[in-house]
Amino acid sequence: MAGDQQGVGLVHRIRRATHPVALGVLLLMTACSGSSPEGLILISVDTLRADRLGSYGNELGLTPHLDSLASESLVFRNAFAPAPFTLPSVSAMLTGRYPDQLGVQSNTAVLPGEIPTLASWLGQRGWRSAAVVSNYVLRKKTRLDRGFDYYDAAMRSREQVRGLPERSADATTASALRLLDLMSGRGSGPMFLWVHYQDPHGPYTAPAEWEAPAGPPPPGVEDRLLPTSTDDRGLDSLPRYQALGDRRDTVSYRAAYHAEIRFMDEQIGRLLEGIDRRGLLDGSVVIFTADHGESLGEGDRWFAHGEYLAASETAVPLFLRIPGGAAGELQRLSSPLDVFPTALAALGIEPPDQLSGEDLLDGSAREAPRTLWLSNLTVGSARRQALLTDGIRYVVTRRSDGEVEEFSWLGGDQGHEISPERRASLRNTFRELRTRLGASRPEKRQDLTRDECQNLRALGYLVEPSCDALPATP
Ligand SMILES: [Zn+2]
Repeated sequence: MAGDQQGVGLVHRIRRATHPVALGVLLLMTACSGSSPEGLILISVDTLRADRLGSYGNELGLTPHLDSLASESLVFRNAFAPAPFTLPSVSAMLTGRYPDQLGVQSNTAVLPGEIPTLASWLGQRGWRSAAVVSNYVLRKKTRLDRGFDYYDAAMRSREQVRGLPERSADATTASALRLLDLMSGRGSGPMFLWVHYQDPHGPYTAPAEWEAPAGPPPPGVEDRLLPTSTDDRGLDSLPRYQALGDRRDTVSYRAAYHAEIRFMDEQIGRLLEGIDRRGLLDGSVVIFTADHGESLGEGDRWFAHGEYLAASETAVPLFLRIPGGAAGELQRLSSPLDVFPTALAALGIEPPDQLSGEDLLDGSAREAPRTLWLSNLTVGSARRQALLTDGIRYVVTRRSDGEVEEFSWLGGDQGHEISPERRASLRNTFRELRTRLGASRPEKRQDLTRDECQNLRALGYLVEPSCDALPATP
């Protein structure tokens, strides 16, 4: 193992060698490039459960291109999004800070201007950067565009059910490659590309040629016919925005979700091939993750996210390929929150202070198990907050008649109880975190036009009773 350790230290060119024994890493060493990475490719996908990927144990063969990338990557098997919906989770990914610390608690927040982002931090060090986002929630008004030389949020097509602006995976890939060429034409030096795909987000309407098997329902879930809801929460019903024609059976919706994933995977394959053709893949760090999952019937919640903090809505894929680096699986608790510090470590760049995310390449011994904080923030029928630590998930739901707590093992039933002492300790940690994070920073809301307000209401994300008083779109 000593040789492996030395190899990791060499290829990562960072001071903290991953410890293969402590982390249970299967190391597959490839050629050592001997030079710093020349680029960073960050690919994120909306609404993608980790357990739909072959590299996370799925047997339906939905993601051959991602599985191929994962086979050359460090794959984090226990990654959880800090929030089960888009803007807070993506903001955490790009800043290494919890949504509460950013004051980003809804899909209509503005990212504070003084917080360093991956793009601004790299930009200050001479990097060129470009982003392509295909979720309406991530448009420039969020100020996620800060620090990017190019930020393409143009969405010219419309969703089938809600009629909202969107961009499908083929157009997302085409835009990303176009921006890569634009950046390449602007001098030399390292480049950062972030691409966010929207396709697995409902309604599930992949191009007709992308069929996929439904496979079995998640454990404990039974397929059935669902009534259509009058809202988008999917509790015991089909969310309004997901309903396609008169289809009501859960099997066909699950198959349609899988078809979106197959389509997205194919287009990510095209993206990687295009980057490779330009000679930019081998020398770049590639990171893949998702902003949150999707309930597929767990807790009788169907084809929706934003409510629960269970694995269905928060377990996400997370892996990174480092040029000439190690590949294998790691069980450590991790999160898209870790993307910022981990990317910088892989690039040999010092991170800013006060990050809550961790450098996942740092294998040094920890004194205490890691604790992750999760919250559904302002979305959902009730406020839920959770901590994950040491194999346990502790969720507190705030209801009108008080708080309800719930303990469970992260890996499912472990066959033994969580001791009273352990529960008391978790309650204490939870209270400390809630005090520290819960009141970190008030949210600054976007100045919405009437159209934007109506679009966001249609997405199910706005609590305002009416958009009528807002100014019309200029
Ligand atoms: Zn999302």
